[in-house]
Amino acid sequence: MFTRYATIETANNMTAEFDLIAKYFTRPTSQTVLGIGDDAALLEPSAGQQLVVSSDMSVADTHFFADATPHHIGWKSLAVNISDMAAMGAKPKWATLALALPNHDNTWLSEFARGLFECAERFKVDLIGGDTTKGPLNITIQIMGEVPTGQALKRSGAQVGDDIWVSGYLGSAALGLAHLTQTQTIKNEDTLQACLNALHLPQPRSSLGIDLRGIAHSCIDISDGVLADLSHILTASNIGAAIELANIPCLEGLKTQLDKPAYQQAILAGGDDYELCFTAPADKRDAIMALVKQHNIQLTRIGVSNASGKLSVTYNGNALSLTSLGYDHFS
Ligand code: ADP
Ligand code: MG
Repeated sequence: MFTRYATIETANNMTAEFDLIAKYFTRPTSQTVLGIGDDAALLEPSAGQQLVVSSDMSVADTHFFADATPHHIGWKSLAVNISDMAAMGAKPKWATLALALPNHDNTWLSEFARGLFECAERFKVDLIGGDTTKGPLNITIQIMGEVPTGQALKRSGAQVGDDIWVSGYLGSAALGLAHLTQTQTIKNEDTLQACLNALHLPQPRSSLGIDLRGIAHSCIDISDGVLADLSHILTASNIGAAIELANIPCLEGLKTQLDKPAYQQAILAGGDDYELCFTAPADKRDAIMALVKQHNIQLTRIGVSNASGKLSVTYNGNALSLTSLGYDHFS
């Protein structure tokens, strides 16, 4: 409700809240027993599946600029949650939306809902409930999905000798953000557009994650840069790894700038890639290359895991000092 305590305005505010939910957030569902409108939703998990649950909060001026395009905010708030399902090898099915809004702005709400439902329809997710309150702009989505029992992709399954793979291109979103905050200038118009698209409309690797069941030993989605996220796999699996920067896939316009520390940093440690980083044994290379064709997506081997317990990075074969990039805790 807009007011937590009973006031003379409570009845009006409740009407406004119900109207808002009905107008912007109530859509037909396809895999839900009871959706928006009651005190809680009812879900029927499929037989033989485990329920996979995650939530991600998006806060104005922390995760996006408060004046960012509401269509982008709507898409991305759900997309980042779907990315967590992908990382688990789970099929996303249901989401709830907890929304704090500073004011009731119809244009903002309809554009936000448009982005959110574009993403929901693309990935077949039902919006099944939520909460709405007045406050500083905050969008918290909880997502629920399913994975066949015992088949979830975890961070802890990597083994010594596994290949380390990443999907798509890294660093684009971070460079797009750097351009917007004027810490870098991307001169090439096509490169700039691709970087801004990656930042605003990330494409979670949902079907890839699902198809990596039985192939990948471990998996994580890259939200905080490949160094940080690969390190989570290494820590959870109690192993080390060596990766080569020149092997990390990035847009052509970034590849030509790879000698610049700012570009190295964006690719290795920039945020918001929402690609998958996974490990798999060498005998799965053919199966993985088949996924490249099937999903029309880039999958690249960037290194190999080892027993060192540490992550080391080379650039054209020479050790790269992560300390000089400000990431001493990774080495
Ligand atoms: P309650 O007071 O019982 O929490 P609400 O008035 O908050 O109920 O919500 C009424 C219905 O609308 C519930 O089904 C709830 O899940 C749904 N709902 C509320 N806010 C949102 C939202 N932002 N998006 C989707 N569903 C919502
Ligand atoms: Mg409520």
